[in-house]
Amino acid sequence: MISMKIFDIEGKPGAKVFEYIDMFEYPHGTKEQLPICIIQGIEDGPTFLLSGNIHGDELHGLVTLQEIIQELDANKLKGTVIIVPTLNPAGLLTLTRSPFYIGKTDPNRLWPDPKPKKKPKLKYDDAYDEILDEENYPNVQEVFYSKFAEIFEHVDYYIDLHCHAIRSFPFSYLDRVYYDEEKEGEKEKAEQLFEKTSSFVKAFGLTIILENAPKIYFKENLHRSTTGSFVNKYRKPGFTVELGASGIVDANIIAAAKQGVFNVLKWAKMIEGEVKPITGITVIKDELWREIDIRSPKSGFFIPLVKIGRIIDQNTPIIEIRDVFGNVKETIISPAYGILLAVWDDIRCYTNRLIGTYLVKNTVDVVIPWEYEKKEEKKEETS
Ligand SMILES: [Zn+2]
Repeated sequence: MISMKIFDIEGKPGAKVFEYIDMFEYPHGTKEQLPICIIQGIEDGPTFLLSGNIHGDELHGLVTLQEIIQELDANKLKGTVIIVPTLNPAGLLTLTRSPFYIGKTDPNRLWPDPKPKKKPKLKYDDAYDEILDEENYPNVQEVFYSKFAEIFEHVDYYIDLHCHAIRSFPFSYLDRVYYDEEKEGEKEKAEQLFEKTSSFVKAFGLTIILENAPKIYFKENLHRSTTGSFVNKYRKPGFTVELGASGIVDANIIAAAKQGVFNVLKWAKMIEGEVKPITGITVIKDELWREIDIRSPKSGFFIPLVKIGRIIDQNTPIIEIRDVFGNVKETIISPAYGILLAVWDDIRCYTNRLIGTYLVKNTVDVVIPWEYEKKEEKKEETS
């Protein structure tokens, strides 16, 4: 069989190869490096990419991947598993979401952009426009990620592991699939990709939550996240897993995440065995959820009134805003049948502050044309 080669690193059939890839040069001349492990089976099969810790303070993915590396037997594997325990080595050392050398820029919004771009010719085009356009000068992280993303061409499945909030339960984010509606057959292909990705996410075994609907998805650049780019640019199944709190390691969460990874490797027929349900943490099945924000209408102290992860009816009191003496200033009620997914760390809040998120049933299409905005405008014109 042919050995898997990434950058200049070659996999070895039946072995685990541990290496480091040069990312960029620091001002003092040393190099930032990305650790990578290639586990190649002895028989042919799909290529799987697993990564974690792109947000440097999110540790559950890193530890899950360490354990997968140790436990996966290359001699019982069909295909190749590429594992990147941290996509953000500097952020890991400082336990910060972003690496210090890019300020507060979110590293998980720097992956190749799948959205087709139309640059209109402007009346006041200026000779210096290109020099002044920040987009022409990507930071070192983006330059490296673009280079790293070249391996996406050779990868069949991708899972990126994250953490969400202290008071949240683990779940998987499923991206909507976008397509070019002017090309024949693209919608059908997009539907097939969504179906395949859905069954991949289901096999993992956690609660499934759809990424934001298009307007906010693009506004927040989520199409340039690791798996947003993988699904919508490279047109292959990938998803993001959110594993509870950042900054700590919880054994139940690691066990659940590991079970999920072994489940998908079984689903892809890369290792022997049956997919097993995840136990020891909350899993809510049989529904495609979407996440909506909960904001505080007043300043005060916010206290949850219901258990995170339990299904509740519409109009159930879910969070109380208290004054400093404990008098209730406001009671936030559930907007619909659903689940309190997360309440942010802290108890202090100011008017309009985001204090948590809530899950409702999805009602937005899961396969959507790129030009969804134009369509809506047209509809308005004709109505
Ligand atoms: Zn994250």
